[in-house]
Amino acid sequence: MTQPPFRVGTGYDIHPLKAGRPCVLGGVSIPSEVGPDGHSDADVVLHAAADAVLGAAGLRDIGHHFPNTDEACRGMDSALILAAAAREAAKAGWKVGNLDLVVVAERPKLSPHVPAMRSRIAGILEIDPSQVGIKATTNEGMDAVGQGRALAVHAVCLLFRA
Ligand code: MG
Repeated sequence: MTQPPFRVGTGYDIHPLKAGRPCVLGGVSIPSEVGPDGHSDADVVLHAAADAVLGAAGLRDIGHHFPNTDEACRGMDSALILAAAAREAAKAGWKVGNLDLVVVAERPKLSPHVPAMRSRIAGILEIDPSQVGIKATTNEGMDAVGQGRALAVHAVCLLFRA
């Protein structure tokens, strides 16, 4: 059966924001009085990105590869998770064409950090920053995200046959 040389995948993640937690988003440390709470470093941007890569490759999600019940994953640098996702996709014969992200957050203010996040994500995936899109938006004061109690990320990834 002939298969197309492209695959698309989506990823989504949300984490609560907690006072005093380090704020690492897109692999970049961001000065903030709140940070995403979770089992790993809780980098919700890299988690959504990793799931988009894995999904496009037809692989299981990051919860399968890095269970939040696994003590080895506690406080883990999520750059390792995204790198592992890309490695698994590469093993299946896929390369990242591009990644596009929507970060929904009332706080911290992300736009000043978008260029650094793009560079960092591109570095982890060994692609050019022009292959990484990041949009920062808010939820206009509605729901937990809009009230600054959580941060959500949507991701889309295109893979092509290596
Ligand atoms: Mg997560």
